[in-house]
Amino acid sequence: MHELARCSQIVGELRGTGDGDPVVVIDPSDGSVVGEYAAATAGLVSRAVDEAERAHAEWSRATPGERSGVLASLAVELDAMAEDLAQQETLQTGKAIRLSREFDVPGSIDNVAFFSGAARNLEGRASAEYSADHTSSIRRESLGVIGSIAPWNYPLQMAVWKAMPALAAGNTIVLKPAETTPLTTLMLAEAALKVGLPPGVLNVVNGPGRSTGEALVSNPRLAMTSFTGSTAVGRHVAELAARNGTRTQLELGGKAPAVVFDDADLDAAARGVVAAAMINAGQDCTAATRAYVHRSVYQLFLDAVVEHTERVRLGDPRDPNTDMGSLASFTHRDRVAAMVESARVGGARILTGGSAPGGPLARGAYYTPTVIADASQDSEIVQREVFGPVLVVLPFDTDEEAFMLANGVDFGLAASAWTRDVFRAQKAARQLGAGTVWINDHIPIVSEMPHGGYKGSGYGKDMSSYSMEEYTQIKHVMVELTGLTRKPWHATVSAGLWCD
Ligand code: NAD
Repeated sequence: MHELARCSQIVGELRGTGDGDPVVVIDPSDGSVVGEYAAATAGLVSRAVDEAERAHAEWSRATPGERSGVLASLAVELDAMAEDLAQQETLQTGKAIRLSREFDVPGSIDNVAFFSGAARNLEGRASAEYSADHTSSIRRESLGVIGSIAPWNYPLQMAVWKAMPALAAGNTIVLKPAETTPLTTLMLAEAALKVGLPPGVLNVVNGPGRSTGEALVSNPRLAMTSFTGSTAVGRHVAELAARNGTRTQLELGGKAPAVVFDDADLDAAARGVVAAAMINAGQDCTAATRAYVHRSVYQLFLDAVVEHTERVRLGDPRDPNTDMGSLASFTHRDRVAAMVESARVGGARILTGGSAPGGPLARGAYYTPTVIADASQDSEIVQREVFGPVLVVLPFDTDEEAFMLANGVDFGLAASAWTRDVFRAQKAARQLGAGTVWINDHIPIVSEMPHGGYKGSGYGKDMSSYSMEEYTQIKHVMVELTGLTRKPWHATVSAGLWCD
């Protein structure tokens, strides 16, 4: 059993202070119990907000250099913990250890390091005399206490994406990870305390969304609610926040298209789309879920993606040779299976996969990598987020039709276009309605560049200096320059002010 009881919550300096119903953490790759913790009740969440409010006075006044120094030390500390973090991430999510080691953990550390630098680069625009008698300047200031909610697909990365820009900008935070995946967020908070982040600056509360999560996002003392998760829950969270007039940032679901033109390097496209569809067992908000392929190369592409998909090795996530582990929970696996089944019943062809494996893998929440053809554009499998290892492939005839189909869903988080024609590439970059568009690739991210959605995928940015804007407010400071007692504009208000 993991030492979960000891540190199930970190609120300021308090540890192990959960006071609500028990929550069990399961290893989804075999159904075994990893640990149990007591959820944070509304009372504990409120105390966490108290702690964060108290800590804000000092943290917001720390110099950018001081904040940067703590985050730099945190990056070093996380680096030293990298293998342990990777193991715990795999334990609670069932994801392949290779992905935890090579993507989740190093990506998170790089993000911490980036925000250590970004903390020292916050600036407003130049000061100037926009009125002849005044100097105007801009101060960029922190907001206060941020309430953040993170999902279970990349628990450490999502915690880092939420916390780092907020902290770098001088805010304090109360962060709730998904109830099923608290381990690496707790390790992050422990590490932050160890390297000198003042107590109360980064608070973690654990528990289900309906109880702990709602208590957090309904708290009227939050300056901002930052949410990453599904579109339905995100909209509900925004409603709760709106009752208090709280600023929100929403990073929601995705249904990314990959558009493969007839001039594309087909081999590169097939490999790239399978990698982008199957990463993290498809539980990636930017995963390639819909491939639109020019009819002239459609069959060739289908054959290639089926071949590559069948090579994906499903297995024990702790084995470094495993490509894909289990899905993150049994409930989620059953939801994925039900959506594929309903596509099959609706007339779509399952070209490979489409089942939960038997044998030794039957005890985990596994699902076989799946490729589907002949689904209609308006069907559930094309329109709704599956969030599993499922790629749907559809044909198109003209560029305009491809863009229309690619944009024809409620989401707009990410998209890719595959072509060797520079004009088509530029047209795709302009016409695909998504917060990220890749040309001849799909998935890579960098800390320096923003991540965020269009349409139903939400608003606001994670990563990059753009996210610092989400977590700050700007103040106009206007300084009078003449020193005159009577100012000409007073006469407009009252002749007496000017003449007496
Ligand atoms: P989810 O919406 O079910 O849960 C996300 C978080 O919200 C969890 O911490 C959960 O406990 C909490 N929550 C649930 N109900 C709540 C409520 N009523 N009030 C407050 N909090 C509540 O999402 P999930 O299943 O954990 O994650 C998968 C989803 O996240 C997918 O839709 C995926 O696309 C999305 N996602 C988006 C991004 C992005 O950057 N846009 C990144 C990762 C994941």
